[in-house]
Amino acid sequence: MASSRRESARPGAFLPLEKYSFGVGDRFAHEARPQLRACLMAAEAGLEITPVWNKSNREHRVVGSEPASVRAAAEEAVGELGWRRPFHVDADHVTQETVGAFLASSDYFTLEVAEAIGKPAPSEEVASFLARHRELYAPGDPPGAGARVALDLPRATRAAEKYLLAAKTAGEIYRRIAAAKDPASFVTEVSMDETDHAQTPAELLLVLAALADEGVPVQAIAPKFTGRFNKGVDYVGDVAEFEREFRAAIAATARAVSAYGLPASLKLSVHSGSDKFSIYPAIRRALAETGAGLHLKTAGTTWLEEVIGLAESGGEALALAREIYARAYVRREELCAPYSTVIDIDPDNLPAPREVQNWSFERFVRALRHDPRSPEYNPHFRQLLHVAYRIAAELGTRYLALLDACRETVARNVTANLFERHIQPLFLEGRARLAAP
Ligand SMILES: [Zn+2]
Repeated sequence: MASSRRESARPGAFLPLEKYSFGVGDRFAHEARPQLRACLMAAEAGLEITPVWNKSNREHRVVGSEPASVRAAAEEAVGELGWRRPFHVDADHVTQETVGAFLASSDYFTLEVAEAIGKPAPSEEVASFLARHRELYAPGDPPGAGARVALDLPRATRAAEKYLLAAKTAGEIYRRIAAAKDPASFVTEVSMDETDHAQTPAELLLVLAALADEGVPVQAIAPKFTGRFNKGVDYVGDVAEFEREFRAAIAATARAVSAYGLPASLKLSVHSGSDKFSIYPAIRRALAETGAGLHLKTAGTTWLEEVIGLAESGGEALALAREIYARAYVRREELCAPYSTVIDIDPDNLPAPREVQNWSFERFVRALRHDPRSPEYNPHFRQLLHVAYRIAAELGTRYLALLDACRETVARNVTANLFERHIQPLFLEGRARLAAP
């Protein structure tokens, strides 16, 4: 019964997602306005970017916040700045266990399926999927010139065994949401980035076929790409290889739209871990040449700008920034443990807290601000502070009161960071040149 329903299922109604969207994390719900200002600056430059405020269950737990607070902060900013374009509130990395709390306030759901990846699917389901989808392993071109690994039957079988339960999990979470709210009122993303192994573009296409079979109107898919996407620091890996893979993944999404009836707005979602500056030019070229859309998620980059803004404000606020570092330094093992696969900190390169105690605000900011050209920029210092938002959460009103007191300095840093270091290099640079005859 269930399987015949799935075989005939076709993705139904959905809230269309705009072509370019940008995931902005705002852990303490204080920066929605300066974040939105960066999107307004893009709009003034002729570029429409939809802001999506994303916050995961883990971030809510650490900060002690409720999902409704994200929408409240977003709506307040939208009202104050007179933003008349779309925006969304993303229940980031939700599972069957955690989605309930997000149902009322989110209109964008990122379905987390990593845990189901690799759990072998029942052999009869694998067999019926492969019988239904011979096109996935038929001789011919794999999607995208860079996708050198085509699927033959043995590879398709292994991929189906590995990913079918993940697609099924996405289907279950999706139907739970669709039962609670109008399917035409929300966007669905599926994330597979929090796993050990990158997916090939051919595997990505297989996953999309399986999601279509589940009736999931997926509009953004987050594969795991090759290379390291550490938190708050630049990409580590082969940029040329990333570019080939990224283009092939775009081709896989385009093929899935035409072959499986998925929404035409389907696009890649890059869970960047923030600040992947060295791959931005590759992404920009691929988007310009293919016309594909993009969703790019950042989260911690804004929290780090809060710390930069506090340090820049001097006095008590600088003292608090130093204190957050000192506490994080002592508790670094505990703070880093949940992020072990996405941070690389060499303790020998961490300044001792007593040294930081003597730093001027300029010195502190130069070590923390993500300016790879600055000789004093310290990615180890930055990564440790990235995971130290738990300490700011523990400081509670002491942290929030100083954030309010330094609001303008923090806001200037939040906006400039998103616009100059993310939106411009991703979407705007070279635009004039591309448009020129
Ligand atoms: Zn992610």
